[in-house]
Amino acid sequence: MQHKIVVVLLFCLALQFFCYSSLIVHAAESDDSEGASHDIYEQLKRNLRVDAGDKPAYETEEQPTVYLTFDDGPSKLTPEVLDILKQNGIHATFFVLGEEAKAYPDTIKQILADGHQIGNHTYNHVYKELYSSFGTFWEQVQRTEQILDDIAGIRPQLIRAPGGTYTNFDAFYYYYLEDAGYTLEDWNMDSGDSARVGVPASEIVATVEKSTLHNETVLLMHDGSGHSQTVKALPEIIRYFKEKGYQFATLSEKVQPVQFRLGTPKWKRSGESFAAFQDRVGQAEEVRMAKLEGDGNEAGDEQNQSRSSVTDATYTPMQSGDVTEMPASDGKALQPGTVSTASQPELPLTVEVEGKQIAFAGNEYEFHDNRFFVPMRKLIESLGGRVDWDDANKSAEVHYGYTTARYELPQHTIRLQAPCIKERIYRFAEMSLRNGSILVPLRSAVELLGDSIKSYTINDKERQVGITARNGIPLLMYGIRQV
Ligand SMILES: [Zn+2]
Repeated sequence: MQHKIVVVLLFCLALQFFCYSSLIVHAAESDDSEGASHDIYEQLKRNLRVDAGDKPAYETEEQPTVYLTFDDGPSKLTPEVLDILKQNGIHATFFVLGEEAKAYPDTIKQILADGHQIGNHTYNHVYKELYSSFGTFWEQVQRTEQILDDIAGIRPQLIRAPGGTYTNFDAFYYYYLEDAGYTLEDWNMDSGDSARVGVPASEIVATVEKSTLHNETVLLMHDGSGHSQTVKALPEIIRYFKEKGYQFATLSEKVQPVQFRLGTPKWKRSGESFAAFQDRVGQAEEVRMAKLEGDGNEAGDEQNQSRSSVTDATYTPMQSGDVTEMPASDGKALQPGTVSTASQPELPLTVEVEGKQIAFAGNEYEFHDNRFFVPMRKLIESLGGRVDWDDANKSAEVHYGYTTARYELPQHTIRLQAPCIKERIYRFAEMSLRNGSILVPLRSAVELLGDSIKSYTINDKERQVGITARNGIPLLMYGIRQV
């Protein structure tokens, strides 16, 4: 027993030393992060998947759940699909092509108005273009996203790779997209409706009925032009799942995605250079940060997530009110009525970090546009970090575990140095100096440092935000520290 304690103590001491010395090294030079970044690159080059960040806490459904998914639309057939879904009081997920969305903007709006989910299926579905280079895939995702933003103000987080990821994706594809905050969605049941041209409805139904059922079944179907037989088969498919006791729901970031295993890509690609890797990671991070800043508010995000999970447990049709409550896909559009004007809060704000509470008095923080703005120094120091104020340059250097972030007030930028990345610069429009302290949006500040918001309560009596902290320590080591 004693022996065990000594071992544990020695281990802690060694770890402490390691963390501390690494921190110093890191502060002195950024080679450290370059090294870690290089390790990731080497792994990806060997086609091994590397997690790009924290995965959200997935919600598992107790009742068997089927996620109906329709790819390649919208088309002139989509309104018929929407009618059938509406008649059954259920919801589905549409992975749309940018090209088709452009041709059927009203259908996109109708899909959302009916309470369904929309995912990104690239712009033109041309395999050779999409899988010859990640650059093309990325460009098509962005292009489609922009089209959907223009039509309906949404920027979908869910992506389905045309043809699925297996033998199309390599580890780099996964890494870049996940690093940018996207979720990749394959399927675990194929209706076979695109096995060849004109598969008859009876065969589609038969394929579904003889397929293995999963507790959470993600069913692949198509609503692109030429798939009228799928529309014909749909009522029978819905009846089948109802009979089996399934509820229907839409995919979201909260649903653990089905992803095929990583195979050897069948496409010839020129090797990814380390410089290209770093550029793409930077690009991905920019998209992720833009999303953080775009929605960047706690309440909006909560809505954003609830938007994503529509479950139709009781098969009752949605009420008409649901339509206007559908938040935009990235949560960036706050719903009318939820946008509050700047107000002086009187209630204190409690930020809870791993059981410890940081209290901000009513006059210490701001709450407007559904976002909390808190004094950075107090936040960081309470989290165990250090802030050095540079008065000449009106900037603050935050040291938090392995991460160093330099907040530059005049430029409204943040320079972030952390393991695995080269220095990144973020535009951070919303920082202001108040009573000698920089006020920063709570969520963005926390997420920049690798922590995350896990809970959020705001009502007439209470303002509370819960944070999961990693103390600026890389995930792997954080796990060890918990021992
Ligand atoms: Zn497709």
